[in-house]
Amino acid sequence: MTPGGVNSPVRAFRGVGGEPFFVDRAEGPRIWDVDGNSYLDYVLSWGPLILGHAHPDVVEAIGLAAARGTSYGAPTPAEVELAQLIREFVPSMQRLRFVNSGTEATMSAVRLARAFTGRDLLLKFDGCYHGHGDSFLVKAGSGVATLGLPNSPGVPAELSRLTLTAPFNDLEAVEAVFRAHADRIAAVIVEPAVGNAGFILPEDGYLPGLRRITAAAGALLIFDEVMTGFRVAPGGAQGHFGVRPDLTTLGKVIGGGLPVGAYGGRSEIMDWVAPRGPVYQAGTLSGNPLAMAAGLAQLRVLRVMDPYPELERRTRRLVEGLLANAAELGVPAVGAHLGSMWGVFFAEGPVRCYATALTSDTRLFGRFFHACLQRGVFFAPSAFEAGFLSTAHQDADVDHTIDCARDALRAARG
Ligand SMILES: *Cc1c(COP(=O)(O)O)cnc(C)c1O
Repeated sequence: MTPGGVNSPVRAFRGVGGEPFFVDRAEGPRIWDVDGNSYLDYVLSWGPLILGHAHPDVVEAIGLAAARGTSYGAPTPAEVELAQLIREFVPSMQRLRFVNSGTEATMSAVRLARAFTGRDLLLKFDGCYHGHGDSFLVKAGSGVATLGLPNSPGVPAELSRLTLTAPFNDLEAVEAVFRAHADRIAAVIVEPAVGNAGFILPEDGYLPGLRRITAAAGALLIFDEVMTGFRVAPGGAQGHFGVRPDLTTLGKVIGGGLPVGAYGGRSEIMDWVAPRGPVYQAGTLSGNPLAMAAGLAQLRVLRVMDPYPELERRTRRLVEGLLANAAELGVPAVGAHLGSMWGVFFAEGPVRCYATALTSDTRLFGRFFHACLQRGVFFAPSAFEAGFLSTAHQDADVDHTIDCARDALRAARG
């Protein structure tokens, strides 16, 4: 019915072989397939569900909102409340605009950056994924990396030429690009902690270096925090690392599992967006009341419970357990985590960029993935995706996962 049987490529098990299970329902840390098998879920809808599946507050908020009408095409108080709540956590977003997906957010941010600077070139990093907008499908991460499609047919070469690339965690490469193209670069867009090439942390000084280089050249710095926002820390990667971008894109967690994205930043830049300014960007369902209600409910729970220290501790426990398994079984592995985002590569390491991520043993990963699934643990079906944890995952779940993963790795290693 749909190409490859899925409505988003990463859902097919192309990176690990086999066929995806079909989901019946989910609750807390667990997901059930249509055959009645259940799995501890570390995919969590690829990031949004930081409170786990079907959190009662989120479900209730959606129900109450739906009863009042599903869409109006006119502004609502919930949009203002969610924007204010986001700005509380991410103060660099002085003004922001809601859209319906992370892809829309990044596409809109780049259009705005080009308009504001009067320049056309964009610099992105190998293995970073910024949604499926034409300008970003150059050496992209996530499903693009999993499927080994460095560039997508259908993107005009004229447009691809405007997207420059450099390896992540390499400031000299960025400086070289800026030397070559000095005053033609509108923006640098980066996942401040990479979650779409596996999970890769920025090295000390890297993000401040990007800030310095872009500021000196009059280019904008865009942090794509669609995945890291409200995940690695309440204020996102920019809060954790103390670097202030000009523009930020959000998605995933801010929608509580409904389709939401947002872009925002310095007022003087955002004032270029229509109808206040000339840069056109619109959406029939943008700021949808159900989506706003779900996002508000989730962020309010996060504000009240401040689960980040606990999430960080549990995520560390998981990654340390997985690495201990590998060490015990003599399998080379390296891992990283921040907040509730994490990743493990079956590689000698260190993994500091996409090229080194590619040295990981993807065939072993594929066997490990299936062996985990058989034991009731659902990790992302690709070696090049980050994992997540939710507040619904308890220590016992994590410990059970580590035990399952040890058996799975023993079986996968052969
Ligand atoms: C998921 C993701 C996107 C795209 O968001 P969609 O809602 O899938 O369009 C963009 N950037 C990053 C960093 C992401 O992780």
